[in-house]
This record gives sequence, C-alpha cells and structure tokens, in this order.
Amino acid sequence: MAQLSPLLKQATPVVVDHGEGTYLFDSEGRRHLDFTAGIGVTSTGHCHPKVVAAAQEQIGKLIHGQYTTVMHKPLLELTERLGGVLPPGLDSLFFSNSGSEAVEAALRLSRQATGRPNVIVFQGGFHGRTVAAASMTTSGTRFSAGFSPLMSGVHVAPFPYAYHYGWDEKTATKFALRELDYLFATLTAPNEVAAFFVEPVLGEGGYVPANTEFMAGLRERADKHGILLVLDEVQTGFGRTGKFWGHDHFDVRPDIVLIAKGLASGFPLSGIAASQELMSKAWPGSQGGTYGGNAVSCAAACATLDVIAEEGLVANAAERGTQLLDGARLIGDKNAAIGDVRGLGLLVGSEFTTADGEPDTVTAQAAQKAAAERGLLLLTCGAWMNVVRMIPPLVVTAEQVDEALGIWAEVV
Ligand code: PLP
Repeated sequence: MAQLSPLLKQATPVVVDHGEGTYLFDSEGRRHLDFTAGIGVTSTGHCHPKVVAAAQEQIGKLIHGQYTTVMHKPLLELTERLGGVLPPGLDSLFFSNSGSEAVEAALRLSRQATGRPNVIVFQGGFHGRTVAAASMTTSGTRFSAGFSPLMSGVHVAPFPYAYHYGWDEKTATKFALRELDYLFATLTAPNEVAAFFVEPVLGEGGYVPANTEFMAGLRERADKHGILLVLDEVQTGFGRTGKFWGHDHFDVRPDIVLIAKGLASGFPLSGIAASQELMSKAWPGSQGGTYGGNAVSCAAACATLDVIAEEGLVANAAERGTQLLDGARLIGDKNAAIGDVRGLGLLVGSEFTTADGEPDTVTAQAAQKAAAERGLLLLTCGAWMNVVRMIPPLVVTAEQVDEALGIWAEVV
C-alpha cells in the first residue's frame, strides 16, 4: 500500500473535509479556526462563493489553453485587471504557477536584461524551494540542506531585524545599509550584480517588516550600481499587509514585482510584473511552462480581485490586523516566553525566547500544538522556528480575531 512521505507528517494531524471562510471542518465534523490560510493563500477565505462560481463556469468552457500556443480570455482579462492595481510603469506580465517559479522567472529576466550573473539577497529572506530559489533563501538551513551544490553568485546582506540585533529599528536599518555598502566595497566584481531580491516583510524568516528608510536605501543603491530592485510580494501582495502591496507602506519604486499566493484564492498561479522595456529583454523561449497562466486559475484570480474590491478586504486587513497585533502584544507583554510581537496587517508573529534571550523553539512549537488542540490553526516561522505566526484570510471578522486571541491567551 502506498503511503505519504514522512515529510508530510503534521504536528497536529487534521484531515480536512471542507472549508468555509475562516474555518476548516475536519472529517469528524470538528471546526478549526484557520489562522494559516494555506500559508497566506486563501485571501478571500475558503471557497468564497464568487471564486467557486467563476472557477466552475470556466471549467465548463476551457480548463487549459497553453499560452505559448493559444491565448485565452481569462488570461487577457486578468492581465488587464492587474494593470489597474500594479505600481505605475509595471505594465508587462508573465505568468507561472508557484512563487518559486516567479522567483526563477525574475532571476532569468534580471540576468538577461543586465547581462550580469549575480544577485544580492537579504538575511532571513525566503524565496522558495526550487534550486535557484533555495540558493537565494537564507531563512533557515532546512531549505537548502543536503542538496548542494546550490547556485553560485548569491551575496547575502543584513535585513533590519531590530529585535534580533537587540537594537531599535533606526540603528538596525543604519547597520543594514552600511553593511550593504561594505559588501559593495569588498566584492571583487560589484558590477556583476544583476538584482536585489527582497521581501517587504520577511515571511518565513520571522515576520519582520522592512521600513521606508531601508527600502529607500535599496532603491538609491540599485540606481547607483545599475541594479534591478526585485520585490518578492508573493506573501505580502493583494491586501495581506493592510495596503494592496506590501511595498505601498514604504513608498518605493520596484523594477520587478513577484506575485502568487493571495492572487487566486488557492488556485495555483504566480507571475512577474515589469515594464514593457525590461520584459522585452527576456530571451525568447526562456520563460514559461506547460501549466503557466491556467485558465481556471486566471478566472479565479479575476473573481478574487472582484471580492477584494467589493468587500473592502484591504481595509479589513488593516483594521483586523491592528486588532490582532494589539491583542497579541497585550498577551505577549504578560508572557515572559514571548520576547517580541510584530507584524504588518494580517501578518502577525510572536517570537519566543528563553530567559537569556536565546530562540525558544520548543515553547513556540508547544504553543502552536496546544492552539491546534483547541481548534486554532497556526504556523511557526523564523530561522529557529521560534516565531508563531498568525495569517488568517482577509475576510476574518472582529469576532473571529477575538476568538483566536482568546485561545492564544489561554495557550501561552
Ligand atoms: N517567496 C515568498 C516571499 C514566499 O513566502 C514563498 C512561499 O512561501 C515563495 C516565494 C515560494 O512560493 P511557492 O511555495 O509557491 O513556490
């Protein structure tokens, strides 16, 4: 009899029967408050009726129309719709299926457009699990252990993770930018760097928001050195942070934006957005894949954009995010095991540390397990997996946030 890989063993096994909004229901009829949203994917909640209807209608018309052979309506419509929400000037799109594929697409484009091979990534960044994306990931050795050699030419610079350094944000930002300048001064070939790849909020790395000064510093250095600024908005896009894009908080101009996760409410879809001029430098044949820009995924994405606009989900993420962060902070203040509580919008993390300030993975994971046993699903993140993160769907209500905070208070 075939069995699932042991890698698919969950801390608290739940076999889901169906999902509705912020809830999952298991095969025994038990209800779970889902503050994981499929790792930030089901932004409109599980099985939003409008997303379901759009997908069902599309399935009856066309499931797959390979985009290098034929074009289909949902892809054209989605492209037009995204034009209305993307940063000005990023008017050319290319689609694939997963976040990692979008990262690789942006890597290829950056290299082709600049003629330079190397990239600079930031400590604690997560960009995926394909080999190139894993090579650019520094949020934990678990993502790249045991399958070397990784891609060469990846330089790592600090991210302003103030709590980790034990500094205030201003000092951490100053340090990060100075170290970046030091990196440029000491690289043998600084003019071989094609791009910066950075997340507006470190996701897997521990829910650490960037800030305006840091992002302005990256833009300035990108312009100075002829480098592209690639913003990985895979987790932070589509309202997750309480603004449409994570980088809207920081007033920065990207050259390439990566999209996935919340884009299609659970259907696999990702993409890269750049200017027409930049995108025209991609070499024919180098981008694409059999399933990229799937018709059903694109129809679901159009419905997702409708739901985000009609139900005011960006504003809801901001309001419920403040409620969640404030509540988690109050709980954190009363608990010696929680060293820091931080976040942006509906990305909220509580970092567990021991009395002497060391990462406390054991307590974080015990808290996650205890919450799951009480019907609240959470995730951990951070290099040491000592940050418990809350990432509910953007449709979460004030009552559901209170319910989750009630369970969290009891657990910690
Ligand atoms: N980039 C970021 C910021 C992510 O959070 C993730 C996934 O968590 C990825 C890339 C990779 O996406 P995927 O797992 O769809 O390949």
